[in-house]
Amino acid sequence: MSYLMNNYSRLPVKFVKGEGVYLYDDKGRKYLDLIAGVGVNSLGHAPPEVVKIISSQAKELIHVSNLFENPWQEELAQKLVKEFHTSGKVFFCNSGTESVEAALKLARKYWRDKGKNKYKFVAFERSFHGRTYGSLSATGQPKFHQGFEPMLPGFSHAKLNDIDSVYKLLDEETAGIILEVIQGEGGVNPAEEEFLAKLQELCKEKELLLIIDEVQTGIGRTGEFYAYKHFSFLKPDIITLAKGLGSGVPIGATLAREEVAQSFTPGSHGSTFGGNPLVCKVASYVVDKVKDLLPRVRSVGEYFKKRLEELNLGKVKGRGLMLGIELKEECKGYVLKALEEGLVINCTAGNVIRFLPPLILEKEHVDEAVEKLKRVFK
Ligand SMILES: *Cc1c(COP(=O)(O)O)cnc(C)c1O
Repeated sequence: MSYLMNNYSRLPVKFVKGEGVYLYDDKGRKYLDLIAGVGVNSLGHAPPEVVKIISSQAKELIHVSNLFENPWQEELAQKLVKEFHTSGKVFFCNSGTESVEAALKLARKYWRDKGKNKYKFVAFERSFHGRTYGSLSATGQPKFHQGFEPMLPGFSHAKLNDIDSVYKLLDEETAGIILEVIQGEGGVNPAEEEFLAKLQELCKEKELLLIIDEVQTGIGRTGEFYAYKHFSFLKPDIITLAKGLGSGVPIGATLAREEVAQSFTPGSHGSTFGGNPLVCKVASYVVDKVKDLLPRVRSVGEYFKKRLEELNLGKVKGRGLMLGIELKEECKGYVLKALEEGLVINCTAGNVIRFLPPLILEKEHVDEAVEKLKRVFK
């Protein structure tokens, strides 16, 4: 009997310790971790420098509330804006869904401040933006809505890589478009370059805010600091961040270009925990470290992709260290088999094996993973 709500189907393994790219269970078995807490442990498990920062900051100040000045937020925000394509400002929260909520609220407020009744959003089928009502309404997967209806008014879903399907959903009341550059939970589905270029054009032409959800793709995951930066023409008005930003401490952020950010004024939005000194201090270190890791994420990612293609299991999708193999069959069973082989992988969208390893992954780990995968799929 468990005292926990039954909202997760948990795999039968108890991890009790981690080090680098490896996890250890309660029986002392070692596993190569290729999911990293769903793209969270970007610097691996128990990175010594992060442990040191957590400990020293905890001794100084863990939490102080947003009633007071917070230099740790200032430092981190400056670093995040430096990687943005233009000047901007940041709001800190604690998770991906909250960063999306802030983005949606900010977008609506921006148009209301301009005296326009633009409140609708076009999102995409198979997208995932979170589990609270705004982000859930944006999420383009009916299975997550079931039993929780009605969703918020004003959300509709177009087909990724089909610009006409976007056109059809626009009207005078559309505030913006929200998408992932590579859909994560939806099955590692990349948006095509040509489609993104047209989408950017459309936003300009129809006066729409472009919101890019970088919760999974951001902070180095795909080999660029923000995944949208693979496309020089993309100029999002708002981006959302979380997952890898804290390398394990819970932190989310919403980054908007200067003019849009002005619409949050004292009292218009907030978070009790958001951006406390402890998480900001850690994330600040993570950002520096990830910037150094980018060339390696690109090269190890390319190598990983090539080796996965050689396995001939299905179409290999994604970029950097965000990769997926689309199987012709359900993949749940393979996750269990992989655990038996000492390999932690993930199955998403029913038939896509997803890899989101720590960004410190090296080629030798890829080789180890491929040998294990051969046994899993033999
Ligand atoms: C995981 C995810 C979210 C939600 O993040 P939580 O921290 O679980 O709330 C939102 N958007 C994308 C793209 C994600 O991958």
